Amino acid sequence: MRPLIASLSSFVLLSLVTASTLAAPAASTSQAPAPTSDPLASGTVQNGTKWFRKSAEYRILALEAFRSATRRLEAIAETRYDRNWVVVSDADETLIDNSLYNQVNDQLGVGFDPKTWDEWVVKQQAGAIPGAFDFVRAVVDAGGKLAIVTNRERAREPETWANLVALGMPDDRSAICLLGIDAALDKKTNTEEWAKYGYANDKDRRRRLLREGIAQQCWKDHGWAARHAWNRPLDIVLEVGDNVQDFAGVTQAGAVPEQLLRKIGRRLILLPNPMYGSWEK
Ligand SMILES: [Mg+2]
Repeated sequence: MRPLIASLSSFVLLSLVTASTLAAPAASTSQAPAPTSDPLASGTVQNGTKWFRKSAEYRILALEAFRSATRRLEAIAETRYDRNWVVVSDADETLIDNSLYNQVNDQLGVGFDPKTWDEWVVKQQAGAIPGAFDFVRAVVDAGGKLAIVTNRERAREPETWANLVALGMPDDRSAICLLGIDAALDKKTNTEEWAKYGYANDKDRRRRLLREGIAQQCWKDHGWAARHAWNRPLDIVLEVGDNVQDFAGVTQAGAVPEQLLRKIGRRLILLPNPMYGSWEK
Protein backbone atom coordinates (compact mmCIF):
# COMPACT_ATOMS: atom_id res chain seq x y z
CA MET A 1 0.00 0.00 0.00
CA ARG A 2 2.66 2.48 0.96
CA PRO A 3 4.35 2.83 -2.45
CA LEU A 4 0.95 3.34 -4.07
CA ILE A 5 0.00 5.98 -1.54
CA ALA A 6 3.37 7.62 -1.81
CA SER A 7 3.11 7.75 -5.59
CA LEU A 8 -0.10 9.75 -5.48
CA SER A 9 0.12 13.50 -5.57
CA SER A 10 0.83 14.62 -2.05
CA PHE A 11 -1.07 17.78 -2.88
CA VAL A 12 -4.24 15.72 -3.36
CA LEU A 13 -3.50 13.61 -0.31
CA LEU A 14 -2.83 16.65 1.83
CA SER A 15 -6.13 18.14 0.70
CA LEU A 16 -7.97 14.91 1.47
CA VAL A 17 -6.39 14.41 4.86
CA THR A 18 -6.78 18.05 5.76
CA ALA A 19 -10.42 17.91 4.79
CA SER A 20 -10.87 14.78 6.87
CA THR A 21 -9.50 16.59 9.89
CA LEU A 22 -12.02 19.36 9.45
CA ALA A 23 -15.13 17.58 8.25
CA ALA A 24 -17.39 15.37 10.33
CA PRO A 25 -16.88 11.67 9.63
CA ALA A 26 -19.30 9.86 7.37
CA ALA A 27 -22.19 8.14 9.11
CA SER A 28 -21.14 4.73 10.39
CA THR A 29 -23.14 1.54 10.43
CA SER A 30 -24.85 0.77 13.71
CA GLN A 31 -22.40 -2.04 14.54
CA ALA A 32 -19.15 -0.32 13.62
CA PRO A 33 -17.25 1.61 16.25
CA ALA A 34 -17.87 5.32 15.96
CA PRO A 35 -15.12 6.85 13.86
CA THR A 36 -13.22 9.64 15.42
CA SER A 37 -13.07 13.04 13.80
CA ASP A 38 -9.76 13.72 15.51
CA PRO A 39 -6.84 12.20 13.58
CA LEU A 40 -4.59 13.04 16.51
CA ALA A 41 -6.49 10.46 18.54
CA SER A 42 -5.47 7.74 16.09
CA GLY A 43 -2.43 5.59 16.59
CA THR A 44 -0.81 6.58 13.31
CA VAL A 45 0.24 10.06 14.33
CA GLN A 46 3.55 10.07 16.17
CA ASN A 47 3.71 11.28 19.75
CA GLY A 48 6.04 14.15 18.90
CA THR A 49 3.53 15.48 16.36
CA LYS A 50 0.61 14.99 18.75
CA TRP A 51 2.43 16.78 21.55
CA PHE A 52 3.33 19.67 19.29
CA ARG A 53 -0.19 20.03 17.87
CA LYS A 54 -2.42 19.51 20.87
CA SER A 55 -0.64 19.59 24.22
CA ALA A 56 -1.05 22.40 26.70
CA GLU A 57 2.61 21.89 27.59
CA TYR A 58 3.85 22.81 24.13
CA ARG A 59 1.78 25.98 23.98
CA ILE A 60 2.96 27.07 27.44
CA LEU A 61 6.62 26.49 26.57
CA ALA A 62 6.38 28.37 23.26
CA LEU A 63 4.63 31.32 24.90
CA GLU A 64 7.19 31.32 27.70
CA ALA A 65 10.05 31.32 25.17
CA PHE A 66 8.65 34.40 23.43
CA ARG A 67 7.84 36.08 26.73
CA SER A 68 11.48 35.61 27.65
CA ALA A 69 12.55 36.89 24.22
CA THR A 70 10.38 39.98 24.62
CA ARG A 71 11.81 40.76 28.06
CA ARG A 72 15.29 40.54 26.58
CA LEU A 73 14.26 42.66 23.61
CA GLU A 74 12.96 45.39 25.92
CA ALA A 75 16.25 45.44 27.82
CA ILE A 76 18.23 45.66 24.57
CA ALA A 77 16.04 48.43 23.17
CA GLU A 78 16.65 50.53 26.29
CA THR A 79 20.36 50.62 25.55
CA ARG A 80 20.29 50.97 21.78
CA TYR A 81 19.38 54.26 20.18
CA ASP A 82 20.76 53.28 16.79
CA ARG A 83 19.24 50.94 14.25
CA ASN A 84 22.28 48.76 13.72
CA TRP A 85 21.13 45.76 15.73
CA VAL A 86 19.42 42.64 14.55
CA VAL A 87 17.59 39.69 16.03
CA VAL A 88 18.32 36.49 14.10
CA SER A 89 15.54 33.92 14.08
CA ASP A 90 14.95 30.58 12.46
CA ALA A 91 11.61 30.10 10.64
CA ASP A 92 10.33 26.51 10.76
CA GLU A 93 9.03 25.47 14.18
CA THR A 94 10.38 28.75 15.55
CA LEU A 95 8.08 31.33 13.96
CA ILE A 96 5.92 29.08 11.81
CA ASP A 97 4.22 25.77 12.51
CA ASN A 98 4.50 23.00 9.91
CA SER A 99 3.11 20.28 12.14
CA LEU A 100 0.20 19.62 9.77
CA TYR A 101 2.76 18.51 7.17
CA ASN A 102 4.19 16.10 9.75
CA GLN A 103 0.73 14.90 10.76
CA VAL A 104 -0.20 14.11 7.15
CA ASN A 105 3.06 12.23 6.68
CA ASP A 106 2.43 10.28 9.87
CA GLN A 107 -1.08 9.38 8.70
CA LEU A 108 0.28 8.21 5.35
CA GLY A 109 3.13 6.31 6.98
CA VAL A 110 5.74 8.27 5.08
CA GLY A 111 8.60 10.48 6.20
CA PHE A 112 10.01 13.81 5.15
CA ASP A 113 10.47 14.07 1.41
CA PRO A 114 11.91 17.10 -0.41
CA LYS A 115 9.17 16.92 -3.06
CA THR A 116 6.21 16.89 -0.65
CA TRP A 117 7.97 19.48 1.52
CA ASP A 118 8.30 21.80 -1.47
CA GLU A 119 4.60 21.35 -2.27
CA TRP A 120 3.78 22.19 1.35
CA VAL A 121 5.93 25.34 1.25
CA VAL A 122 4.27 26.47 -1.99
CA LYS A 123 0.82 26.06 -0.43
CA GLN A 124 1.73 28.56 2.33
CA GLN A 125 -0.30 26.71 4.95
CA ALA A 126 2.14 26.95 7.84
CA GLY A 127 0.57 28.34 11.00
CA ALA A 128 1.93 30.65 13.67
CA ILE A 129 3.95 29.43 16.64
CA PRO A 130 2.24 30.73 19.81
CA GLY A 131 3.65 34.14 20.68
CA ALA A 132 5.92 34.36 17.64
CA PHE A 133 4.31 37.17 15.69
CA ASP A 134 3.71 39.37 18.72
CA PHE A 135 7.47 39.10 19.22
CA VAL A 136 8.22 39.81 15.54
CA ARG A 137 6.14 42.97 15.69
CA ALA A 138 7.77 43.96 18.99
CA VAL A 139 11.22 43.78 17.38
CA VAL A 140 10.12 46.07 14.55
CA ASP A 141 8.27 48.43 16.91
CA ALA A 142 11.41 48.69 19.07
CA GLY A 143 13.38 49.90 16.06
CA GLY A 144 15.25 46.66 15.62
CA LYS A 145 15.79 44.49 12.61
CA LEU A 146 14.82 40.86 12.25
CA ALA A 147 16.78 38.49 10.02
CA ILE A 148 14.99 35.21 9.42
CA VAL A 149 17.75 32.74 8.66
CA THR A 150 16.06 29.61 7.40
CA ASN A 151 17.08 26.41 5.71
CA ARG A 152 14.13 26.71 3.38
CA GLU A 153 15.37 27.03 -0.18
CA ARG A 154 16.25 30.53 -1.33
CA ALA A 155 14.06 29.90 -4.39
CA ARG A 156 11.03 29.62 -2.09
CA GLU A 157 11.57 32.96 -0.34
CA PRO A 158 8.54 34.57 -2.08
CA GLU A 159 6.16 31.87 -0.86
CA THR A 160 7.68 31.88 2.62
CA TRP A 161 7.52 35.68 2.87
CA ALA A 162 3.85 35.62 1.82
CA ASN A 163 3.08 32.92 4.41
CA LEU A 164 4.81 34.96 7.14
CA VAL A 165 3.00 38.17 6.19
CA ALA A 166 -0.36 36.36 6.18
CA LEU A 167 0.36 35.30 9.76
CA GLY A 168 1.04 38.84 10.96
CA MET A 169 4.61 39.71 10.04
CA PRO A 170 5.03 43.34 8.89
CA ASP A 171 5.59 43.46 5.13
CA ASP A 172 8.64 45.67 5.61
CA ARG A 173 11.89 44.81 3.83
CA SER A 174 13.76 47.53 5.70
CA ALA A 175 13.01 45.90 9.03
CA ILE A 176 12.90 42.22 8.11
CA CYS A 177 15.14 40.12 5.90
CA LEU A 178 14.54 36.53 4.86
CA LEU A 179 17.68 34.54 4.12
CA GLY A 180 17.06 31.12 2.65
CA ILE A 181 19.66 28.46 2.01
CA ASP A 182 21.67 28.16 -1.14
CA ALA A 183 23.04 24.69 -1.71
CA ALA A 184 26.07 26.16 -3.48
CA LEU A 185 27.21 27.58 -0.17
CA ASP A 186 27.36 24.32 1.75
CA LYS A 187 30.48 22.94 3.35
CA LYS A 188 31.30 20.48 0.59
CA THR A 189 31.33 23.05 -2.20
CA ASN A 190 32.67 25.90 -0.10
CA THR A 191 35.34 24.19 1.98
CA GLU A 192 37.86 27.02 1.85
CA GLU A 193 35.44 29.63 3.11
CA TRP A 194 34.22 27.34 5.90
CA ALA A 195 37.81 26.85 7.03
CA LYS A 196 38.75 30.52 6.65
CA TYR A 197 35.92 31.80 8.83
CA GLY A 198 35.57 28.74 11.06
CA TYR A 199 31.91 28.11 10.32
CA ALA A 200 30.49 25.41 12.57
CA ASN A 201 27.01 25.16 11.10
CA ASP A 202 25.30 26.07 7.85
CA LYS A 203 23.84 29.31 9.23
CA ASP A 204 27.17 30.77 10.34
CA ARG A 205 27.92 32.12 6.88
CA ARG A 206 24.68 34.08 6.74
CA ARG A 207 25.29 35.45 10.24
CA ARG A 208 28.69 36.71 9.07
CA LEU A 209 27.16 38.41 6.02
CA LEU A 210 24.65 40.14 8.29
CA ARG A 211 27.33 41.27 10.74
CA GLU A 212 29.47 42.65 7.90
CA GLY A 213 26.52 44.30 6.18
CA ILE A 214 27.00 42.34 2.98
CA ALA A 215 23.95 40.05 3.00
CA GLN A 216 22.88 41.22 -0.46
CA GLN A 217 19.85 38.95 -0.44
CA CYS A 218 18.34 41.39 2.09
CA TRP A 219 18.14 44.23 -0.44
CA LYS A 220 18.56 42.72 -3.87
CA ASP A 221 15.19 43.24 -5.62
CA HIS A 222 13.82 45.22 -2.65
CA GLY A 223 14.86 48.80 -3.37
CA TRP A 224 17.07 51.50 -1.90
CA ALA A 225 15.40 51.64 1.51
CA ALA A 226 16.13 47.96 2.13
CA ARG A 227 19.71 48.46 0.99
CA HIS A 228 20.12 51.46 3.28
CA ALA A 229 18.85 49.36 6.17
CA TRP A 230 20.91 46.21 5.64
CA ASN A 231 24.07 47.30 3.80
CA ARG A 232 25.84 48.28 7.02
CA PRO A 233 27.55 46.37 9.84
CA LEU A 234 25.01 44.99 12.30
CA ASP A 235 25.23 43.59 15.82
CA ILE A 236 23.43 40.31 16.35
CA VAL A 237 21.86 40.81 19.78
CA LEU A 238 19.56 37.79 20.09
CA GLU A 239 19.20 34.43 18.38
CA VAL A 240 15.96 32.44 18.32
CA GLY A 241 15.56 28.83 17.19
CA ASP A 242 14.20 25.35 17.79
CA ASN A 243 17.56 23.69 17.24
CA VAL A 244 20.97 24.36 18.78
CA GLN A 245 22.33 24.72 15.26
CA ASP A 246 20.23 27.85 14.92
CA PHE A 247 22.82 29.41 17.26
CA ALA A 248 26.17 30.82 16.15
CA GLY A 249 29.03 28.37 16.19
CA VAL A 250 27.06 25.49 17.67
CA THR A 251 26.73 21.94 16.35
CA GLN A 252 24.54 19.18 17.71
CA ALA A 253 27.58 16.95 18.21
CA GLY A 254 29.59 19.65 19.95
CA ALA A 255 26.84 21.29 21.98
CA VAL A 256 27.46 21.48 25.73
CA PRO A 257 24.00 22.00 27.26
CA GLU A 258 25.31 23.47 30.51
CA GLN A 259 27.31 26.08 28.57
CA LEU A 260 24.41 26.97 26.30
CA LEU A 261 22.11 27.21 29.31
CA ARG A 262 24.04 30.24 30.56
CA LYS A 263 22.98 32.11 27.43
CA ILE A 264 19.39 30.88 27.29
CA GLY A 265 17.01 33.74 27.99
CA ARG A 266 19.85 36.22 27.51
CA ARG A 267 21.50 35.83 24.14
CA LEU A 268 19.65 32.70 23.02
CA ILE A 269 15.96 31.72 22.95
CA LEU A 270 15.19 28.03 22.44
CA LEU A 271 11.82 26.57 21.44
CA PRO A 272 10.82 22.92 21.80
CA ASN A 273 10.48 20.70 18.73
CA PRO A 274 9.98 17.00 19.36
CA MET A 275 9.11 16.22 15.72
CA TYR A 276 12.49 16.46 14.00
CA GLY A 277 15.89 18.04 14.26
CA SER A 278 19.63 17.62 13.97
CA TRP A 279 19.40 15.33 17.05
CA GLU A 280 17.87 12.60 14.84
CA LYS A 281 21.19 11.80 13.15
MG1 LIG B 1 13.58 25.22 12.79
